[in-house]
Amino acid sequence: MSALYARADAVRRENVGDAVHLRGLIEISSHCERQCMYCGLRKANGSLERYRITREEIERCALTGVNLGYGTVVMQAGEDDALTAEWIADIVRWIKRETPLAVTLSLGERSRDDLKMWRHAGADRYLLRFETSDPYLYRAIHPRRFLDRPDRLMLLKELKALGYEIGGGVMVGIPGQSYASLARDLLAFQDFDLDMIGIGPYIAHPATPLGSGQLRPPIAGADQAPNSETMVYKMIALARILCPDANIPSTTALATINRRHGRMRGLQVGANVVMPNLTPVKYRALYQIYPAKACIDESATDCSRCLSSQIRSLSRFPGRNAGERGSFEVEAGVVARSATQLVQLEEPGYGG
Ligand code: SAH
Repeated sequence: MSALYARADAVRRENVGDAVHLRGLIEISSHCERQCMYCGLRKANGSLERYRITREEIERCALTGVNLGYGTVVMQAGEDDALTAEWIADIVRWIKRETPLAVTLSLGERSRDDLKMWRHAGADRYLLRFETSDPYLYRAIHPRRFLDRPDRLMLLKELKALGYEIGGGVMVGIPGQSYASLARDLLAFQDFDLDMIGIGPYIAHPATPLGSGQLRPPIAGADQAPNSETMVYKMIALARILCPDANIPSTTALATINRRHGRMRGLQVGANVVMPNLTPVKYRALYQIYPAKACIDESATDCSRCLSSQIRSLSRFPGRNAGERGSFEVEAGVVARSATQLVQLEEPGYGG
């Protein structure tokens, strides 16, 4: 196994360097119209107190992201019809006008018109995990809301055609997900030429049909892939080797199943992105896609400090630019130091 991880880490270093890009996550609404069988935000979960954040709060979060040196903000939410296309577009325009941030949206399966409007407003990227490339399992866990709406894989193609950088990804260890199916997921990352690949463990949420055991998806039997930490590391490492220049986050779900080491280990087996939380602390616990989510009570500043020092401990450095796909950042301090050394080296030559 260590040979796989070492190879993935080398491919990561050669292709995207030692920068770890920080994407500040703003969870803007926990309302959701969908009934995804795995997700705690599903509409039927009556035990969850819902919130929707204000425009002023989003703007404040974005400015905090700028102050903390992040290159990107990610606005994520349940599928919430009250987040109108115009409202989101206005906020995107504001962020693009007032800050140097790249803007990523992760607002679920919205209409083509909405996606187009947001792209025109300046949104750079869209995250929409396809969760599994197995069409049977996908349908079992992801009831459709509109029959005429394309599925997530189709939507990713549309997003790419609109000029977004696209992020897909999967949960690992969903009941009914086999090893063979995970192998096909890896090939799908390549086929869809994903710019970003999110991979995290499936975590059972007791207030969902899948998490409570009420829904029993097609049995994968002995071939059932585990939702273990190791399985996630293997998937991250293989994704890095197959998609060398993609941006791959070490996810919060990974940090949730191993609080002390999960996030950093992900960075050591191929990941190059982390997504510190910028959501106002009063809302954090309410965005409960799965239980016991990591980092729900830290302030944005504490979260940033903690991550930066952990990144440094791996001899890596927090990225300063927007970290679009293929960016290869060299640490500013290192360049400055070596330039100074060069000047010093050359000085005597001029004198003589
Ligand atoms: N509504 C948006 C974003 C919200 S959730 C969307 O659906 O795209 C973001 C991601 O959280 C999902 O794509 C899924 O991969 C992950 N997620 C949801 N429930 C989860 C669970 N029980 N365990 C692990 N990850 C989960």
